[in-house]
Amino acid sequence: MPNIKIIGGGLAGSEAALQLADSDWKVTLYEMRPHQCTEAHSSEKLAEVVCSNSFKSKLQTTASGLLKAEMQHMGCKLLPIAQKHSVPAGNALAINRSAFAAAVTKQIEENPNIQLVRREVTKLDDELTILASGPLTSMALTANLQKTIGQQQLYFFDAIAPIVETESLDLNIIFSKSRYQDDNSDYLNCPFSKEEYYEFVEALNNAEKHEAKEFENRFFQNLDFKFYENCTPIEELARRGKDTLRFGVMRPVGLQDPRTGRRPYAVIQLRAENQAKTAYNLVGCQTMLKYGQQKQVLQKIPGLQNAKFLRYGSIHRNTFLNSPEILKPNLSLKNKPNIFVAGQLSGLEGYVESILSGLLVSKILTQNWQKEKLPTTTISRNLWEHLLKPSSNFQPMNANFGLVPPLPYRESNKKLKKQKMAARALAELKTALDQS
Ligand SMILES: Cc1cc2nc3c(=O)[nH]c(=O)nc-3n(C[C@H](O)[C@H](O)[C@H](O)COP(=O)(O)OP(=O)(O)OC[C@H]3O[C@@H](n4cnc5c(N)ncnc54)[C@H](O)[C@@H]3O)c2cc1C
Repeated sequence: MPNIKIIGGGLAGSEAALQLADSDWKVTLYEMRPHQCTEAHSSEKLAEVVCSNSFKSKLQTTASGLLKAEMQHMGCKLLPIAQKHSVPAGNALAINRSAFAAAVTKQIEENPNIQLVRREVTKLDDELTILASGPLTSMALTANLQKTIGQQQLYFFDAIAPIVETESLDLNIIFSKSRYQDDNSDYLNCPFSKEEYYEFVEALNNAEKHEAKEFENRFFQNLDFKFYENCTPIEELARRGKDTLRFGVMRPVGLQDPRTGRRPYAVIQLRAENQAKTAYNLVGCQTMLKYGQQKQVLQKIPGLQNAKFLRYGSIHRNTFLNSPEILKPNLSLKNKPNIFVAGQLSGLEGYVESILSGLLVSKILTQNWQKEKLPTTTISRNLWEHLLKPSSNFQPMNANFGLVPPLPYRESNKKLKKQKMAARALAELKTALDQS
């Protein structure tokens, strides 16, 4: 029976422990709580869900719903427990957090193949290990990890810009052009008139923000200035002065609208999220606005009046690896291949995505899965690919349809389109899994 060590009894670590134990591996699961707590956890339970109690939509016409359906096909252990401890929330899978965590803890404590050790791990060694210590990995282990992979390969915060669906953009207003280049269409540009610009700045100033947690305030204050500038929320820039944005991230230089030959007063650029250009992110629009407010304010951007948001922006404390640089395709460290990485630390974003990653790493270990095992039409395969795809600005990713290749034919009914994409993914996944 193979032995393995898992660092972190959160969502990814708990899923991985149950999966490996089920395959008769001997698991030693290290969890530092309650002796040492993170800034966000509040109990000693495993799989503690630290914030919202929502695992998002159950509908397969949503990316999160499709991801959960895929994970169920793959034999996920934590989702059935979540369903058992769900609370009414319309189409969403919301859970009773403490009942869920208690049930996961009980299953792990009672599993004869799992030994639970309540201790902080402070360094990586040569044992076969899954590193699943999460976005709030302890300081001692973070320092050791930095030494192992190199200081530049570990990030400490998310500054996430919102992502919109291409189909929802008004291309009569938005124009395609890269700064100073005539024949390159890597960027889309949302042009502002003077009035539209100042209206947008005012909307940013009036919108409600997420209150940063006390530990995040401490964290951001401790960042050196230059580092922080790169992730300053757009509403903070607007607050600094009514023209700050148009001389910074919204500057229009080199962006004459080819249709009018004129330079707009200000511009927000959209950068393609994938090769098929089915989704774009709003460059420089990382924000701490509340989600509902984000939609209202960002829909004031010319051309985005009907924009469908695949992901909202956010900024929060989040330790994660520069995975495309340092992970092998099997999600182990290139320079320490006995260490596999799972969970938010690996560069996925979200509860369900973290569970997925614990599930995938255990399948890699027990069944030698390679990413090609999963069809390219699935959300799971694309999230795995995201961890490996070279990027100059690697950011954690959550499930969204923008990751998935479009249908090979045009389907104008959006709901039907998502239904067909989901059916395609699940049918192909079922075939792929049946082949093993
Ligand atoms: C403040 C905050 C709020 C979030 N809110 C949401 C949300 O609302 N919705 C959403 O989908 N996602 C949210 N996330 C993102 C993410 O989904 C969760 O953080 C998720 O729990 C990540 O799962 P994980 O298994 O990677 O890490 P975790 O669930 O955090 O598990 C990691 C575990 O490792 C332990 N640990 C850390 N260091 C060590 C060590 N050295 N030795 C032993 N044990 C250690 C920790 O105590 C913890 O139990 C949030 C993240 C943060 C930080």
